[in-house]
Amino acid sequence: LDPTDENFTPEELEVEKKLRPLSFDDFTGQAQILENLQIFVQAANGRNEALDHTLFHGPPGLGKTTLAHILASELNVGIKVTSGPVLDKPGDLAGLLTNLDERDVLFIDEIHRLSPIVEEYLYSAMEDYKIDIMIESGPNARTVQINLNPFTLVGATTRSGLLTAPMRARFGIQSRLQYYNTELLTTIVERSASILNVPISMEAAVEIAGRSRGTPRIANALLRRVRDFAQIKGDGTIDIKIARFALEALNVDAYGLDEMDNKILATIIDKFKGGPVGITTLATSVSESAETIEEVYEPFLIQQGFIMRTPRGREVTELAYKHLGKIKGNVQSG
Ligand code: ATP
Repeated sequence: LDPTDENFTPEELEVEKKLRPLSFDDFTGQAQILENLQIFVQAANGRNEALDHTLFHGPPGLGKTTLAHILASELNVGIKVTSGPVLDKPGDLAGLLTNLDERDVLFIDEIHRLSPIVEEYLYSAMEDYKIDIMIESGPNARTVQINLNPFTLVGATTRSGLLTAPMRARFGIQSRLQYYNTELLTTIVERSASILNVPISMEAAVEIAGRSRGTPRIANALLRRVRDFAQIKGDGTIDIKIARFALEALNVDAYGLDEMDNKILATIIDKFKGGPVGITTLATSVSESAETIEEVYEPFLIQQGFIMRTPRGREVTELAYKHLGKIKGNVQSG
């Protein structure tokens, strides 16, 4: 099982949709971000203006898409959804932009993957609600400027480091989503269980939450799998016994670490004597980009106390040795 696998079946997508919080009140965690957004939305609504362009960044599965939909719903407007890699040509973008009603939200996921031409095209749309479009072709080709309805661009990215400075500067609101602690994830698991109509004990909810890598998407995925075990191996109720049994059978890491997390830790220990090792060297060793390690994997490993950042690079902690059942060698440097 890979709970982060995004290739959901249609049934699973349906469930995903059902579990998605629809309003600010329904959304658990990210308290500071939510508090601010509520103010900005209220103010924009009061002035009957479009909300400022908003950027959400942070690791996958923490609720960026969910928040984009909530913004549209709290602004009482429509939302159009697309993503960086899909928006190939300026023409695709023009089609979307000219179809936006006043104050609508345009959500662009993976906004760091926009092509430079499309990105540039977006600038004037964001700044002045104007775009140039080319009409006719050949010798008669000319551009005309069209006015757009005021709109809100909501961008989401896991890799804010890859966003160009001019792009970033055009977002009046920027929020970095944080990993969820076990308490918040427990609330999310209980909420999801109640939507799915599965009885679950508090203890079992805590167990699932604690193994979810600080990520609501993983918590929901684990809950669905544990539910299957409860249905087939038990009486449908998720208690601590069935939860532990299922998580064991699913091979879910006790801390919720995924394959790459464990690979990073094992590599630092086995190949670099526990570190310190520079990020580029580490990246090459695990065949992943340095940016992805820095923005997607490392924050969680640091937050959970598996890795430390030192001036000379990354170093694993005692906890990492313990977790992987490895013995700390005596040839340690740093
Ligand atoms: P990605 O960057 O991978 O697209 P994302 O950050 O956009 O991820 P979402 O798709 O918004 O993440 O969230 C993943 C799932 O987790 C959602 O379907 C939703 O059900 C659940 N979820 C996210 N945040 C919360 C929350 N705060 N409370 C309850 N459920 C949440």
